[in-house]
Amino acid sequence: METLNPDMSGLRSLPSVESLLTSEAGRSNTALYGRQLVLEATRHVLDEVRNNYNSDQPIPDQNTLLAQIHNLLEVWTLPTLRPVINASGVIIHTNLGRAPLSQAAIHSMQQVAAGYSSLEYDLEAGARGSRLVHAEALLQRLIGAEAALVVNNNAAAVLLALTVLARDSRVVISRSELVEIGGGFRVPEVMQQSGALLHEIGTTNRVHLADYRRALEAEPVPGVVMRAHRSNFKIIGFTSEPELSEIVALSHSYGVPVVDDLGSGSLLDTSVFGLGHEPMVQESLEAGADLVCFSGDKLLGGPQAGIILGRHELIARLKNHPLARAIRADKLCLAGLTSTLLHYLKGEAVEHVPVWRMIAATPQALAETARRWREVLQRGEIIPGESTVGGGSLPGETLPTTLLALELPNPTRFLERLRRQNPPVIARVEADRVLLDPRTVLPEQEIQLLAALQSALAER
Ligand SMILES: *Cc1c(COP(=O)(O)O)cnc(C)c1O
Repeated sequence: METLNPDMSGLRSLPSVESLLTSEAGRSNTALYGRQLVLEATRHVLDEVRNNYNSDQPIPDQNTLLAQIHNLLEVWTLPTLRPVINASGVIIHTNLGRAPLSQAAIHSMQQVAAGYSSLEYDLEAGARGSRLVHAEALLQRLIGAEAALVVNNNAAAVLLALTVLARDSRVVISRSELVEIGGGFRVPEVMQQSGALLHEIGTTNRVHLADYRRALEAEPVPGVVMRAHRSNFKIIGFTSEPELSEIVALSHSYGVPVVDDLGSGSLLDTSVFGLGHEPMVQESLEAGADLVCFSGDKLLGGPQAGIILGRHELIARLKNHPLARAIRADKLCLAGLTSTLLHYLKGEAVEHVPVWRMIAATPQALAETARRWREVLQRGEIIPGESTVGGGSLPGETLPTTLLALELPNPTRFLERLRRQNPPVIARVEADRVLLDPRTVLPEQEIQLLAALQSALAER
């Protein structure tokens, strides 16, 4: 190739693939990354040199090439799914993986991951068992539900419930509940995937019991009446909607079951923590909902899961549907979820489940942390601010917090620098200042956060 063009003769001094591979750095790369990947990186770097060759410029020497190869290998093998530090003050941040898990949940997931487990093995009988029993017993005891089923996520839970109850028939739902949640996920579109025909009633701001009655009287009888949490928005002003218990009583008088999609759902009363009242799972069951669906990784504070609670006979039909197999929860999820549920059963959720620990953090503790950060950095101003719960729960509600505010020439550029740290730090900008909220930073990440901030501040 070099001989095709006399101008390319300078490339003759370019080290060969073989000499780069057998050099000391080459061998150490091979030990770290494997021969095939190092070979590809070496060829890639050499190709780049050849393609960009210009006879006026010197050919990079062996050490420069080896450094480029090493950089390339690092880039190629850097995981894209990495831990980050969440200093944004959004507790259940869907883009940042929602709920961090409790130590106990992490421990049980680790144990189940590392070896074999009794996932589908009945240790007493010494025979095949069911993966569905692990969380069900806990959910029955904890919430008093007749039966429970755990699937991959809440969207899957809704899909399964409607497939079983309303395929080829109608599902009645208020127009005020046909919402779009994060990532372009639209409640009506998931509902339609079940093969159910959407029967919308009421208007955006008002729906009456009479609207439900008209829908229930239409022939043929609908398969299900559904209520969906509005998740990330709020309707205020001239509004009206019946209580769930009224919807249930009416639907039952027509022999139609009610499914309540709570979205986040909460097992604890959020109003105790100075927030509005997020609908609780227990309340839906008390109101008579036949099935209640909610997420495992929102306010419950566990791993990604969809939890369906409700009447025995309906849950049994859900369990036996072929779709249930396609959306089943994996062993790691079940291990983490059962450990998380145990915290609630033992009355220690607020102390051990990170989401609740963050919600319950005292103003004094938050202010102290912010002041400690200022002390270490010798930079910034301590100001009052607001954290949010996120995860489609409690729209518009905030928790008072204390922030460290950094005044910087280019706040957006500084956010970029923070994202390039290891681990990356996610913060926010408001009124031209970079804001850091202690509420969502895990205590064990504090040293890393301060090191990242110092390093980003030192960059010129
Ligand atoms: C979040 C949410 C879902 C989807 O739950 P995933 O666990 O993310 O699948 C469904 N419905 C409502 C109302 C929600 O808020």
